[in-house]
Amino acid sequence: MCVFSSMSDMLIQLKDYSQIELEDWVKTQGEKAFRGRQLFQWIWQKGVGEFSEMTNLSKSLIQNLEQNCSLGLSTVHQVQTSETQGTSKFLIRLNDGKFIETVLIPEGKRVTVCLSSQVGCALDCDFCATGKMGLKRNLSSGEIVDQLLHARRFSDRPITNIVFMGMGEPFHNYNQVIKAANILNAELGFAHGARKITISTSGLVPQIRQFTEEGHRYKLAVSLNASDDYSRTKLMPINQKWNIADLVAACQEYTKTSSNMLTFEYVLMDGVNDNLGDARRLTQIANQVFCKVNVIPYNEVAENYKRPSNNRINNFLEALKGARFGVTVRWSQGDDIDAACGQLSTAVQDES
Ligand code: SAH
Ligand code: SF4
Repeated sequence: MCVFSSMSDMLIQLKDYSQIELEDWVKTQGEKAFRGRQLFQWIWQKGVGEFSEMTNLSKSLIQNLEQNCSLGLSTVHQVQTSETQGTSKFLIRLNDGKFIETVLIPEGKRVTVCLSSQVGCALDCDFCATGKMGLKRNLSSGEIVDQLLHARRFSDRPITNIVFMGMGEPFHNYNQVIKAANILNAELGFAHGARKITISTSGLVPQIRQFTEEGHRYKLAVSLNASDDYSRTKLMPINQKWNIADLVAACQEYTKTSSNMLTFEYVLMDGVNDNLGDARRLTQIANQVFCKVNVIPYNEVAENYKRPSNNRINNFLEALKGARFGVTVRWSQGDDIDAACGQLSTAVQDES
């Protein structure tokens, strides 16, 4: 290992600290707790990159920070912007040479950032490019929140919505994702409203229960993607562990306990889960939960799956009419630069 990397490994990564952890840490350095709050504010709210820019800290504290701490967790390696849709995809390099992707999606009044929670994903959903990478590692809370810092610097409009729908399964990295969401939500962090932060899960039942018990206000989305267990298991192997009935029960507990509506995501694939029988079964499932259904026409990444024709999509939507839940459709944003849902995959560029 080179001397430089071993030295930087020894530095304290302050971006991985919550506000309280920063307050505790400055106290160990003989400072008052409010210095920790100031640091937190400089790092996230003001987004400064150098300790010397933290003008309300004492010279001696700045010197200490410069010697022992780091704010360098990730850098933007490349940005691609879709000329037709305005979506930008950031290829972000982590300190160990691994890459993740983050997507900035301006659409109407909304500006949404889609965050990654892991490098790759272990869940191996058959239709998803990230799943084909396998899991390389979890992201730390700092690496998750740093993505927003990069997107905020780039965006010419304020960010209105944050979704954990990039690379990875957020609930497989539960603690770091919740810690990151808390920083996004914190007044001295990004002060981003909890109801404008959505966490999407493929359906990890124990973590859905934990999320319910802990009473988080972040929005929850669950990827259903099939209307019967046989097809769901083929598409999402996790269904062998927790099937649709288990998932529905956990979702019901969540909506009852929190009084919050949940979103079911349903990726529509030609000839796989898009016939009228599927629409009928989906209606039966979703009618049992206080939810809305977000239909996502498939973004083509795997050879064996295709996006249905607009005619088939519309027939499917028509068949959902009259159900108790609302239905939205997520037409692609950024598929021309491989930045749409399920297209994120960086295996080829890994430098680690
Ligand atoms: N792992 C989490 C969040 C990341 S995936 C999850 O699965 O929910 C975010 C969404 O993209 C999920 O609803 C997933 O089903 C969907 N998705 C994956 N591959 C896709 C593709 N090729 N086209 C459209 N949506 C896709
Ligand atoms: Fe992982 Fe979600 Fe892709 Fe499934 S759809 S492999 S859970 S990122």
